[in-house]
Amino acid sequence: LTILGLESSCDDTAAAVVRQAGDARAEILSSVVFGQTELHAAFGGVVPEIAARAHAEKLDVCVADAMAQADVGFGDLDAIAVTAGPGLIGGVLSGVMCAKGLSAATGLPLIGVNHLAGHALTPRLTDGAAWPYLMLLVSGGHCQFLIARGCQDFTRLGGTIDDAPGEAFDKVARILGLPQPGGPSVEAEAAKGDPARFRFPRPLLDREGCDFSFSGLKTAVLRERDRIVAEKGGLTRADRADLCAGFQQAVVDVLAEKTRRAVRIYMAEGPSRPLVAVAGGVSANKAIRARLETVCAAEGASFTAPPLPLCTDNAAMIAYAGLELFRAGVRDGLDLMARPRWPLDRAAAGMLGGGK
Ligand code: ATP
Ligand code: FE
Repeated sequence: LTILGLESSCDDTAAAVVRQAGDARAEILSSVVFGQTELHAAFGGVVPEIAARAHAEKLDVCVADAMAQADVGFGDLDAIAVTAGPGLIGGVLSGVMCAKGLSAATGLPLIGVNHLAGHALTPRLTDGAAWPYLMLLVSGGHCQFLIARGCQDFTRLGGTIDDAPGEAFDKVARILGLPQPGGPSVEAEAAKGDPARFRFPRPLLDREGCDFSFSGLKTAVLRERDRIVAEKGGLTRADRADLCAGFQQAVVDVLAEKTRRAVRIYMAEGPSRPLVAVAGGVSANKAIRARLETVCAAEGASFTAPPLPLCTDNAAMIAYAGLELFRAGVRDGLDLMARPRWPLDRAAAGMLGGGK
């Protein structure tokens, strides 16, 4: 099976070709990503209108590049998979329209993929992970624990009640005058700082369960910055590094403790090959990866995190999710809809009256 995948739900335009022969491990034949960071740099965040226009302009080139690099033609493909949500509606629409055009022109089946399923199925693409595994999905817009039981079967154990951690990294970067996206720049600063100088809150640790809250943490960083600026007239390099280190340490501590709880719930089901996987942009963070690995080892579960290019948005994960859905018999028509909101777990998807 050979699948072309398209991704355009946020600020990366991406296309990729993934192939799986029989039950062998799937192989990424190409994965092209055009980032839009520079386009949004002056605005301090992603501007939806600019993003949508850039996706519309770049998708064709992206698809052509991905197919050329994979050395395949449309005749070699079995289906076209596209992110149909959740995300910025203009971007998602650009991708869906492009995929529909390709499907109509070639007669290839169309498969709408949930962007979160793309992230959540990444350990199957990279490690051939067996069901059920525990997924911690941590990205720019999401933060949740899911038990992955099948490519359309996810049970949510908990998640953030306000901001996602990626959003918190981005906001802290903005507060401290560091470049976007904030994750990599805050991580680099944190590596030079002292995590013990500022003691930021660990929200919801005192409450039972696997829910998170990150918005208070960002506010705490803002207050501390303002206090230092009022006192000394500005931030030194050391102040900035220490604030980043303290913030990152708080995020790591919270993710570690909640993961420990989620792993216990998962382990109580008695999985035969217990595996915990992390995915999404924030899973690129080395401090987070290292700490989660330690927690999982202590609980008797294996741990896996994607290679860095597969942590942040890419189309290989969308093509791969499309491949699993194709095997499961999923086919969409030219009436496929772009869905700005599309929860992954069954219970929530049911409540919105949709979700396959
Ligand atoms: P979603 O997947 O929830 O729709 P998204 O697609 O915008 O959101 P991703 O591309 O998966 O998000 O992740 C981007 C986020 O990951 C950004 O908020 C970015 O700051 C964060 N991020 C990237 N690298 C790191 C890092 N090394 N440490 C922490 N955060 C990081
Ligand atoms: Fe994403």
